Amino acid sequence: MHPNSQLPQKPETFRGLNYPFGRRAAPAPTEPVQIAPGVYWARFPMPMALDHINIWLLEDGDGWTVVDTCLDFAGSREQWQQLFQGFMGNKPVKRVICTHLHPDHVGLAGWLVERFNTELWMTRSEFLMCHAMVDDTGREAPKVALNFYQGAGYDEQQLQRYRDKFGNFGRYVAPLPESLRRLVDRETLDIGGNYWQVIVGSGHSPEHACLYCPALKLLISGDQILPRITSNVSVFPTEPNGNPLQEWLASCIRIRALLPDDLLVLPSHEAPFYGIATRLTQLIELHHRDLQALYQHLQEPRRAVDCFPALFKRTIKGDDLGMATGETLAHLNYLLHSHQILREQDAQGVYWYRQLPQYDSFD
Ligand SMILES: [Zn+2]
Repeated sequence: MHPNSQLPQKPETFRGLNYPFGRRAAPAPTEPVQIAPGVYWARFPMPMALDHINIWLLEDGDGWTVVDTCLDFAGSREQWQQLFQGFMGNKPVKRVICTHLHPDHVGLAGWLVERFNTELWMTRSEFLMCHAMVDDTGREAPKVALNFYQGAGYDEQQLQRYRDKFGNFGRYVAPLPESLRRLVDRETLDIGGNYWQVIVGSGHSPEHACLYCPALKLLISGDQILPRITSNVSVFPTEPNGNPLQEWLASCIRIRALLPDDLLVLPSHEAPFYGIATRLTQLIELHHRDLQALYQHLQEPRRAVDCFPALFKRTIKGDDLGMATGETLAHLNYLLHSHQILREQDAQGVYWYRQLPQYDSFD
């Protein structure tokens, strides 16, 4: 139990994790709640399947440090305005920290930086990759990307859908700042008299920053550690032979070894929880189970799109296709890089994967 929270304690244990405020706790949009001295939890609704993001407001001398910003849309700007005038007491935002490049995290970073004439704090890879992705807005889908999805087994209709949706990344991102204050793994920041250490992870995004405060026993985990959802780990056309799942698993192992187990984890989605080591172990085991199932599925040669039944319980269709393909390719590339399967390209440019038979162990 965190001693200083204003939220009603409603401890709930679910799948090995302890949620001190309950699994479904959430502050009202304009009423952030204190999690620890100087650390406040704000909840921003979002108009999509993942219908909210948690934003952390940290008292920082005569102003605020904010961690993550929400998508740029009318409702989120309005919510910030209400927070500025209400809860935040018209004190300035002195620092905008973004854990990683995804639009729900960076959407309003540029707007906040401009408004308060301050700086964006982010890791370098996240900042550069974010600029690159925003620059795709309004462009046509490049040929290499179409070849990539054709290689995964998309039919003409699915490729057309990809063409039609290409360049959407920037739709909910306000113009990004042109410069940054770089965050580096293991450096410490003094925020309102507390030291917060940057802990970098990879796999969901290239150089994701978490923030660890030993004195308050808190970890702002971004999307690197989520309590229930498994973060998307995908291969994209920009790096078709990448091995993000290897990076993801290595990050889970490293963070588990690095941090104590008695931290309250503050994730970007859903509610704060205890049980960081348990959660990281669950994530590692889940991916190993998926790898095993995928390997078994490849007794016959199959395309990436034929592998969905090995990894997903639901039928993959519509908007799920891109994410499912990216995740499937992440698992396939992991098996390829560890020499457990083979890949061959047919005359149509489609890749077929199959087992290398000598493998019977995942040690
Ligand atoms: Zn994310």
